[in-house]
Amino acid sequence: MTAPARRQMGFLLDTTRCIGCNACRVSCQVHNATGPAVAWRLVTSHEQGSFPDVTRHHLSIACNHCERPACLAACPEGAIHKRETDGIVLIDSDRCNGCGRCIGACPYGAPQREPERDAVSKCDFCVERQEKGQPPVCVETCVGGALLFGALDELAEQAPMRTLHRTIDGFPDPEWTRPAIRFLIDEPRIATDKVPRP
Ligand code: SF4
Repeated sequence: MTAPARRQMGFLLDTTRCIGCNACRVSCQVHNATGPAVAWRLVTSHEQGSFPDVTRHHLSIACNHCERPACLAACPEGAIHKRETDGIVLIDSDRCNGCGRCIGACPYGAPQREPERDAVSKCDFCVERQEKGQPPVCVETCVGGALLFGALDELAEQAPMRTLHRTIDGFPDPEWTRPAIRFLIDEPRIATDKVPRP
């Protein structure tokens, strides 16, 4: 059982602004020098409906620094921990034995096998940038202003008069791990679970 974080940081994705350009994914790969074969952030596209009533949205998803991290529970080496101060989930590369159980456990495809070495890595929420007061590089690079971040219980302040959703079409059931991400959606379209405004 993981102790709850004192302040849980999280992502906010405005799917009405995401154009699926992948600038976030590429900037993450460049900043973290992961190489092209490892993507800590993935962008996928999802369609609903049938012609002529078809809608489409894009999901830019990395590690969601879950409140109940399935990766952490699956790691036999104790190489994954969740920071009490901000809820960020980190992999200790010195302790990781590359078994990949976290890859199988994570519903979001966040942990990535490193082909160059026998280890697994994932988004660390640009923890070193946040400690310098800078945003994660994916947030800084997003051309549409679709990707935001902040304390999970304060994300609503960044989207006044809009409803934050815990899930969206194409995203796994958030009840499994309680991911620290919220979505802004095209309201008439989707939504299975609304977060009440404070
Ligand atoms: Fe772990 Fe996956 Fe949740 Fe990240 S998104 S904390 S890798 S279970």
